[in-house]
Amino acid sequence: MRVDIVTIFPDFFDVLDVSLIGKANQAGILNLRIHDLRDYTDDRHRTVDDTPYGGGAGMVMKPEPWGRALDRIIGLSPTGDPLVIFTSPAGEVFTQTAARQLSREDHIVICCGRYEGIDQRVIDDTTNRARTVTMSIGDYVLNGGEVAALAIVEAVGRLVPGVVGNPESLVEESHEDGLLEYPSYTKPATWRGLDVPDVLLSGNHKLIASWRQQQRIERTRAIRPDLLPGPEVEDDPGSSSGQ
Ligand code: SAM
Repeated sequence: MRVDIVTIFPDFFDVLDVSLIGKANQAGILNLRIHDLRDYTDDRHRTVDDTPYGGGAGMVMKPEPWGRALDRIIGLSPTGDPLVIFTSPAGEVFTQTAARQLSREDHIVICCGRYEGIDQRVIDDTTNRARTVTMSIGDYVLNGGEVAALAIVEAVGRLVPGVVGNPESLVEESHEDGLLEYPSYTKPATWRGLDVPDVLLSGNHKLIASWRQQQRIERTRAIRPDLLPGPEVEDDPGSSSGQ
């Protein structure tokens, strides 16, 4: 999968050299390319922002450097059909479902805004010539799109086949089927007076699966009831607390 990221802070993305995403990049499973928006300016000061029309606080990212950068990146797309993602707190919320969909793309372009955001005409213009989506990583405001881009790359990248060694580890995770994951434990069986639940030491895989499902429902109900579809969701009838 090819991923182009446009930013005024290319150094922000040095962390992509480490861990699983870094290895996948070195192995060619992911092809990550970082572009400095200032390389697409045409003045001595490499200016990327200006005051907002209509007044108000803050600055807005100028359209010209963005237009040039996206002309080049879209024009050179190896697939000819990239998906361009504008990061914004005013976008569609980025979820695990969206991450799965994006992991099937061959080429995505992530645009990192700064200041009060990017001149709207950049998004409108891009929409006229490429598939475009505006995405938020949550209902809060960051200083820039770089952290959002990193979150998107990490969540999407690990779903690309070959990035995570054991694909089974991707199946039973929080949000994969609308529930949070069950709690996990490792050795020792007792630590600081706290015991691992007996059921997990039982060796009875059916009972363990049933307990885990029950835990997922209880945890989701307690922490994220908004994820549950409604009163029709029933507890696993064969479940048992096992403790
Ligand atoms: N004035 C904008 C608004 O109220 O919608 C916020 C601009 S924010 C300070 C600057 C940039 O940070 C945005 O253009 C976007 O790229 C990024 N950003 C901030 N919060 C984000 C979020 N929750 N998800 C994705 N990107 C975000």
